[in-house]
Amino acid sequence: MDREGVPPSLPLVPFPHKAEAFSSWLFRLAARYDLHADHLALHAGYPLRGARELDCYLLPQADRTLALMTGLSHYSIRAMRCGTPQRRLWVRDHHVWCRECVREALLDGDEPWERRSWRTGATVLCGRHRQFLEEVCPRCGRTGAGCLFICEKGRLRALCAVRGDKINLWGKPLAVQLPWGLVVNRMTLRCLNALTTDLNRSLVGQPLRAQWRGVGSDRRLTAIVEELTLITLITINYVPKPQPPLYWMQEQSDWKAAFHYTPAMLPMALATGVLMLASILLSDEQFFEELVFWDPLESQIANEPLTADNYVVWLHPKVRRWGRQIVAAPFGP
Ligand SMILES: [Zn+2]
Ligand SMILES: [Zn+2]
Repeated sequence: MDREGVPPSLPLVPFPHKAEAFSSWLFRLAARYDLHADHLALHAGYPLRGARELDCYLLPQADRTLALMTGLSHYSIRAMRCGTPQRRLWVRDHHVWCRECVREALLDGDEPWERRSWRTGATVLCGRHRQFLEEVCPRCGRTGAGCLFICEKGRLRALCAVRGDKINLWGKPLAVQLPWGLVVNRMTLRCLNALTTDLNRSLVGQPLRAQWRGVGSDRRLTAIVEELTLITLITINYVPKPQPPLYWMQEQSDWKAAFHYTPAMLPMALATGVLMLASILLSDEQFFEELVFWDPLESQIANEPLTADNYVVWLHPKVRRWGRQIVAAPFGP
């Protein structure tokens, strides 16, 4: 191939981890040259949209250039993507991580790096360590400040972006306080994991493993969970201002009509609560009767079995009918 116009190949290229997100690898690559990943991406010919945004966009020409610059195959560069432009709203904007996974990387003398699975709003648990993903920096207490993945002296380091010093990952993470008195047990974990698996499959158009209420050839599981997310947020009077990415907005003919709330936009505990509710309400309720309890009014006494009926009663009157339709729909596909 004619290499004219292609930036020369780079002498130092970190090898991507098997489960690594594209942007994570790009940040590690850029760190070798003390560059910001956004600038390296521009240099390779990606349009100016930020390296994190590239996790959802395939840009064959720029991918080929990057392949030539790094010696990696075009295929491995493409395989690191974790979403599609159509499902961009399911991809998190902020960093989340599993403390154990990052610790393992550090113990191996490696850098902190991000797994693809952490980027999607369908995932709230680490599939390897069965721990809830974290989003709050243990050093400065902030979310979304970029802590833990900081470029310094040629590599990424587990530093706090706000305070500039090391993050101690060796302590135990703070216990996750789930909303509505929901608790983690074998039953709720099983449901949550099944939903996570199928949501991730639904996001890339793969056939689902389990049956869920309302799913049909014209109705995706992701759309049903988006609706449950919205009616739950309306009920608790917590509807964040829509802040979709600029590039996503530009690609929609009517972005307000295309916009949907997804768990990716919520704080982790709330996202976990919403997904846990959805995983139980959209499964076969008979199976769980008297097995999953909740405390929707947060009275600290979680002794009410979670059922479709009391979920609907709990909903804001404005969305009750809508909620009933969702949780009473027949199983599919
Ligand atoms: Zn882990
Ligand atoms: Zn921090």
